[in-house]
Amino acid sequence: MISELLEELESEVSKCISCGFCESVCPTLPAAGYDLWKGARGRVIMGRELLSSVQNHGSTNVSDSFYSCLDCHACLYVCPAGVNAGKVSHVSKSIIAGNGIEGNENPLARMMASVTMRYMNPLGIREKCSEWFHGMEADTNSSDLLYTGNMYQLMAYTQGMNHMREKMGKGMSLIMSRIISSLPWLIKLAPMRPDVSVSRKMGQSLSNIALLLRKSGISLNYLGKDEPYPGTFIYDLGYLDLFRQYAAKVAKILKESGARRIITVDPHTYDLLKNIYPKYVEGFDIEVVHYLDLIEGSSFKGGNENITYHEPCHFSLREDAYNKPLETLRSIAQVNLPPRSGRRTKCCGGPDELIFPELTQKISSSRYDELKETKSRKIVTACPICFSNLNKGPEVIEIGDYLVSKLKN
Ligand code: SF4
Ligand code: SF4
Repeated sequence: MISELLEELESEVSKCISCGFCESVCPTLPAAGYDLWKGARGRVIMGRELLSSVQNHGSTNVSDSFYSCLDCHACLYVCPAGVNAGKVSHVSKSIIAGNGIEGNENPLARMMASVTMRYMNPLGIREKCSEWFHGMEADTNSSDLLYTGNMYQLMAYTQGMNHMREKMGKGMSLIMSRIISSLPWLIKLAPMRPDVSVSRKMGQSLSNIALLLRKSGISLNYLGKDEPYPGTFIYDLGYLDLFRQYAAKVAKILKESGARRIITVDPHTYDLLKNIYPKYVEGFDIEVVHYLDLIEGSSFKGGNENITYHEPCHFSLREDAYNKPLETLRSIAQVNLPPRSGRRTKCCGGPDELIFPELTQKISSSRYDELKETKSRKIVTACPICFSNLNKGPEVIEIGDYLVSKLKN
């Protein structure tokens, strides 16, 4: 595995001609005060450094450069040599995680992976993640499985976790992360308090998604407290061996539920299940769709309302761009896009939230300002992470909530 990763890293970094075009679109570079190592070109240079250090058994400290990458892939679409600094970062994190390169592994990353492996949820709160479904009934005979992947639900806990880490201080928080990595059950003793209004808001968004699907005549199964998190963190943080085992467990649960079609609700889970699972889980053949693919049966009030749509990276900057949210919105409203949209959309900063929250704050504020400049009365997002980070005013609304507000009856 390690030799394949080194080859992959070499083939990516060797294409770079050091022109610096990628720096013009990399959101982390300005947010980090133009620290070269927290920008796209710096990550490619660090990739070379890591390669030479592993090949020559040297030591190096390259960790923050890669862990601060948002994996948005914006750099790929402006690079004349076809380099993807996001891929460089991901492969490098995988080398660090798989090879134990001393002093480089981020303790928080290890903790998230350990807790997820034990509880099938990064915070050990699977049961709480099913609370939004209270009062509704799942159709256990349906082969259509609504799969939230716990993503909307987890948003209520991220800010709380960051406050807890701030209170503890950086040093103590790293020590605690190391301890919990070895003893993941300790996470159950941590005072995990959700932000109640975010929790309510996210639960409402999930209920609205279920409503849209039901209005379109789809009968849904849902796993409730048994629904596992899909393993996004484990994959993104480079724990590929663990991810292979974890994804196989999730796939088994999904298969045993009788699902023939998995209905995802967020871009990260959709991308992971559709594009990554088939590469890691042998025989993973369940159809993966996004809920917006299935709501054609609903009727919406059309109109001339001006709205702005923020496109998520995992839809617009992946090889097969997924444009259904934009098409759906265009069928019922006048959609404005900010200058950075389509293949140049700008990440909300969310993927850095747990390890580099200060970068996330700066990136999300600058993206929010760009979206506000379009002067629409509403800003529509299509991802719980984008919503949670861009929700800086009452005009920001999740796409499911917007669509429900436009239902004919
Ligand atoms: S744009 Fe491409 S070739 Fe230019 S510095 Fe960035 S990665 Fe290297
Ligand atoms: S993937 Fe995004 S954050 Fe990472 S280097 Fe490229 S543009 Fe920067």
